[in-house]
Amino acid sequence: MAQKENRKRLLTGDRPSGPLHLGHYVGSLENRIKFQDQYDCYFIIADHEYLTDHIDNTEDFAKNVESLVLDYLSVGIDPEKCKIFIESQVPQIAELNLIFSMMVKMSRVQRNPTVKDELQSRGIEGASFGFVGWPIIQAADILSMRGEIVPVGEDQIPHIEQTREIARTFNSKFKEIFKEPEAIMGKVARLPGLDGKKMSKSLNNAIFLSDDAQTVENKINKAITDPSRIHANDPGHPEVCNIFSYYQAFAPELVADVERECRSGARSCSVCKKQMAEILNKFLDPIREKRKEAENNKDLIKEILNAGNKAAIAEAQTTLDLVKEAMKIDYKKLLD
Ligand code: SF4
Repeated sequence: MAQKENRKRLLTGDRPSGPLHLGHYVGSLENRIKFQDQYDCYFIIADHEYLTDHIDNTEDFAKNVESLVLDYLSVGIDPEKCKIFIESQVPQIAELNLIFSMMVKMSRVQRNPTVKDELQSRGIEGASFGFVGWPIIQAADILSMRGEIVPVGEDQIPHIEQTREIARTFNSKFKEIFKEPEAIMGKVARLPGLDGKKMSKSLNNAIFLSDDAQTVENKINKAITDPSRIHANDPGHPEVCNIFSYYQAFAPELVADVERECRSGARSCSVCKKQMAEILNKFLDPIREKRKEAENNKDLIKEILNAGNKAAIAEAQTTLDLVKEAMKIDYKKLLD
């Protein structure tokens, strides 16, 4: 294992949009637990990014930040091994965002596939000015911490490319300060929601890490399985079944048996769901336990966030000083 001081710096995080679900666990959190032993990890709670299209409901931000930290702690993210910080508490990021914004042509931002898709679906009138600049905010997040590794999903790759371009442009225009961050893709991992669509709070198809056992059972009971199965002993098609995807993610050792029994009609969906609810509850029990411990420690979240913010501010200030010095806008001779 690399010595802590020799580790590459990794930056990833979440928007404070609400409680995290099993899709987040499989797609990201599980990897983060490993990353914290391999990299110098900074986990950002990206509230400015979330503002880009949630300016009308900021009253939930604080509650959501708290719930995010509880989710992190409950799955085993360890604040002794990583820094957890809030984007808006590090004003240097906003300043870097402003500087980087001047280095990117409007046409380039509009070519970003994620921004382009959104602009097409909302129309230019439906998107805020800040929304169009979202990839630049992300670049400021990453480069302020001088992040080298950024775990991402496929749809985020264009943003990292944009960040790399900004780093290159800055380095060639002013001074070699930034390393171009590398995007790494986590293990598979898209877990469908209970209805087969992407698991998401807004689609009301998610199982949350904070759900109690009864809620998990109720949700699993309502999940869509193979719609062609009318009778319990009809032959099934696991490849179209959401519950089967959960077996692949949470009980790989049972996949072969479930598949065989499903295809032959020997396994009913109600038995299959009951077993999956038990598996998920067994998986979630220690997570619930850790969450309870964290909830009982009143000052814990405050301490974690204050320490994370402080560390992030120090890093971002170092970056900003280097940037301003390179650009000759530190006005040292004039002001010191
Ligand atoms: Fe899905 Fe299990 Fe039903 Fe097969 S038996 S369709 S895998 S829930």
